[in-house]
Amino acid sequence: MAVLDEGLRRLGTLFYAVSPWSSSFRTVKEVPNYINEAVPWFFVIVLVEELCGRLQGRQLGRMCDNVTSLSHAILYESVKLVTRWFEMTGYLWLYEFRLLDLQSTLTTWFAGFLAADFVYYWFHRASHEVSLIWAWHQVHHSHEDYNVTVALRQSMFQRLCALGFYQPMALLGVPLPAICVHFQLNLLAQFVIHTEVVGRLGPLEWVLNTPSHHRVHHGANKYCLDKNYGGFLIIWDRIFGTFQAEKEEEEIVYGLVHQPQTSNVVWLQFFYIRNIVRKARSMSTWSDFFRAFLCGPGWLPGTPRLGDLETFPDARGRVKYDPQIPLWQKGYTGAHFLVALLLQQVFTFHFEALSWAGRVLFFGFLLVTVGNITAMYDAWRWAPLVEVTRCASFVAFVSTNGVSGWVGVDAGLVTWFALSSLVWLSPSVSLIQKRLRRKVV
Ligand SMILES: [Zn+2]
Ligand SMILES: [Zn+2]
Repeated sequence: MAVLDEGLRRLGTLFYAVSPWSSSFRTVKEVPNYINEAVPWFFVIVLVEELCGRLQGRQLGRMCDNVTSLSHAILYESVKLVTRWFEMTGYLWLYEFRLLDLQSTLTTWFAGFLAADFVYYWFHRASHEVSLIWAWHQVHHSHEDYNVTVALRQSMFQRLCALGFYQPMALLGVPLPAICVHFQLNLLAQFVIHTEVVGRLGPLEWVLNTPSHHRVHHGANKYCLDKNYGGFLIIWDRIFGTFQAEKEEEEIVYGLVHQPQTSNVVWLQFFYIRNIVRKARSMSTWSDFFRAFLCGPGWLPGTPRLGDLETFPDARGRVKYDPQIPLWQKGYTGAHFLVALLLQQVFTFHFEALSWAGRVLFFGFLLVTVGNITAMYDAWRWAPLVEVTRCASFVAFVSTNGVSGWVGVDAGLVTWFALSSLVWLSPSVSLIQKRLRRKVV
């Protein structure tokens, strides 16, 4: 019975269904890691969504798009281990200058709930209306399938961009533990709204950010752009004029206005900042140079701050990027993705004990891993060579230093990576030979 209760409590966190008393804490250390606790439910919900989708006759997601989304989550969770220190230190410093002292549990809980959602709205809006922040937030919108895994597709710098948005809540007297609770619950409640299998939810559509409202937010159709920024509540959009209801008559096309034709997570994380720098450098005046960073991504000289919708391309009817790879490679990338997920958990578990050099090395390995796995979907020419180097380096390092802290797990990993490097040895040698021959000719 206790297990059932605990399971239901964790499921409730995905819908913000928690009691203020059981989710109020005195210290940050007492605050549960709600996101980690909900991981088993993520998988259940992914399966339930897939099942519902099949029953409705929909194709919800393709492997390449899903693995790409989840690979972004690995990077996001890893970088979070560093950024959370800055978030908390800044918050605690500002809290010393608070203007109010919230007393009761209920007042503090509701103040935290409303403030976190209100700040999310403005941070999210800024993420779309300021190119410099959009350069990172676009990662969340770079999918072409729409399902619950999209919720986990985040820029690894997303939280760094949010620095300065949440911290002023400290001045209102919202204590750090309350923010840690509501920041997590607000994020968790957004997991289930990334779906096409749920239609409209009646009167709830007035108040809550529902799957229907969030589908609009993710659309590349002109009527969807720069709309529905709310996190848990949709009331902020209704108040500040950014609300848009879903149109039955127009099918939503997901993705970016100019959709990059790649699955490579490293490319997807960084390509947009390069675009903005190029755009800024092409400007003829210094004021336009800065506008390229500070106005919306669709802005051009002579247009309004967020650009002119008329000049944007029409996304309707566009064909999805759909790379095809052999079945064995699908299995290979899927298995290495699961290993990367395991290693990310190891990284989180040992993070405090690792030196800075160790942290950089470990993160670098995770970055190359998810980067190369997803580059294989693009049939990137150099992927075999990177893969053999990655796997052989892992074998050389782990067989002497270990990685997980468990001998049996390390031995299994070394065997797996040794076998994997053998798979890519011959394609890598042929690749090098081809390049050398071309040079000689
Ligand atoms: Zn967004
Ligand atoms: Zn979203």
